[in-house]
Amino acid sequence: MEMNDSVITTVRLMADYMPDNPLSGPFEASWRYMTAHYTEFQIATWGSLIVHELLYFLICLPGFIFQFLPFMQKYKIQNDKPETLAGQLQCLKVIMFNHFFIQLPLMCGTYHFTQWFGIPYDYDSMPPWYVLCMQVFCCAVIEDLWHYVLHRIMHHRRYYKYVHKVHHHFQVPFGAVAEYAHPVETVVLGTGFFLGILTCCTHMVQMWAWVAVRLIETIDVHSGYDVPLNPLHLIPFYGGARFHDFHHMNFTGNYSSTFTWWDQLFGTDQQYKDYQKKMATKEGAKKQE
Ligand SMILES: [Zn+2]
Ligand SMILES: [Zn+2]
Repeated sequence: MEMNDSVITTVRLMADYMPDNPLSGPFEASWRYMTAHYTEFQIATWGSLIVHELLYFLICLPGFIFQFLPFMQKYKIQNDKPETLAGQLQCLKVIMFNHFFIQLPLMCGTYHFTQWFGIPYDYDSMPPWYVLCMQVFCCAVIEDLWHYVLHRIMHHRRYYKYVHKVHHHFQVPFGAVAEYAHPVETVVLGTGFFLGILTCCTHMVQMWAWVAVRLIETIDVHSGYDVPLNPLHLIPFYGGARFHDFHHMNFTGNYSSTFTWWDQLFGTDQQYKDYQKKMATKEGAKKQE
């Protein structure tokens, strides 16, 4: 706790020297308008649904456009297998079902959670951005461990065909595949999302900040493209698109959602490392020809 406090104090001092964020004014005005005109129930349920839908399709958009750009194909990981319209429509149908019939009821649950624990919605109680960043990072670490364990269990041959097989329908993933899953998987792996919230949520804004970060991460790892200068790769131990693409191609190994440490620790990334070595040797031989 003491260390946390000293980190927060240091960051606060550094933040004083940073230029003002030009978006903070409009953000404050919008947030105050929202809390003045809508009830907490409306914000937690319909508000969360709108935030989730807008972010989901917005973050999927670049990857969706890449399939029509010939010069982007050199960044596609499994570039011998293009996306099909039928596959994308099928994915859309399943994710819309999951969003409205599984995730929306869960969002109603988050409203009751905020009431039960007295989580504030007002602008003045909002934590500063650096505290929010730490809380979201904490959520990502917790979710990643949950995801590793439950995902690995779902791959057990006794259970695989009943639930997780649905997500593996796409051996060559694209962004929207991120939430293409059996309803049971949506609830089971989705629990990992709420564990971080249960542990360290201090404001409604954290819920949406964590939704945004989790969507950026999961859509990126399913995008199928390893685009250069991706800022997410600045995060230490971040797995990325190649790491999870291999999981869809190979069906085993690389079970984590965000970081690579659990797969490294338990050796479940060995097949991926061997594959990378094989591809690097092939690439080297091609250059020598
Ligand atoms: Zn899997
Ligand atoms: Zn996946």
